[in-house]
Amino acid sequence: MSGLQLVERDPIATCKHCGAKAVGPCASCHAPLCGDCCILTEDGAKTWAICRDCDATGDSLSSGWRAVLSWIALPIGLLAIAVVLLAWLSR
Ligand SMILES: [Zn+2]
Ligand SMILES: [Zn+2]
Repeated sequence: MSGLQLVERDPIATCKHCGAKAVGPCASCHAPLCGDCCILTEDGAKTWAICRDCDATGDSLSSGWRAVLSWIALPIGLLAIAVVLLAWLSR
């Protein structure tokens, strides 16, 4: 079954922003990035390449918690709206 060797086992990672061939992962969220979309940030003595999302959100830890909270708050809010609607419809 030598023909199967032609099948690419590891597809080339593509940039999460533009879909171009990635050159490396984001230092914060590890998403693949191309050379055009990575943003270099200096943190003390080290220079990190991060994606546009992580650059926009700034502190990765607090933004991560904000994302978690929004993911929890969104379904709760939708549920509350649904409950109010059902209560209103069943009157
Ligand atoms: Zn890109
Ligand atoms: Zn990132």
